[in-house]
Amino acid sequence: MSFCCGASMLGSFGTLRHYKTLVHNVPIVYCPVCDRMDVHPAVEGEFEILVEYAQGDNASEVDFSDFVNIDHMPELFENCSMTDQGNYDEVLKHQIDIALDLLGVAKQINNEDWQLELKDRLQKLSERLRKYNKRAESTRSA
Ligand SMILES: [Zn+2]
Repeated sequence: MSFCCGASMLGSFGTLRHYKTLVHNVPIVYCPVCDRMDVHPAVEGEFEILVEYAQGDNASEVDFSDFVNIDHMPELFENCSMTDQGNYDEVLKHQIDIALDLLGVAKQINNEDWQLELKDRLQKLSERLRKYNKRAESTRSA
């Protein structure tokens, strides 16, 4: 399990831009708080080869899954605390719970910097959850 700014990074598939090339379906880990996104460590090598190849080819878009068999990829995410497949709101709620627990600890030990950081994180997470729920609602009513 990897960590970013204190929140645990989530496993997913995403589209990454490398110079002029867009690479789709890349296994990634990302931070739900600050949006930092990294190529999943287990496929960094494949990713580098693919983007070099795409640049040599002047391809503006490639699909990672066309070049690398990603069928076994769910196993990659076993080291992540969770994936966002279909239950992003649950994931966010879980991260909010964790942050609330930590905030309790921070208050107990009177660490004000940490409290501020956690409050900031909570705000971003709940904002994200609010937006997600709003989007989910509009999809349902459409
Ligand atoms: Zn972060």
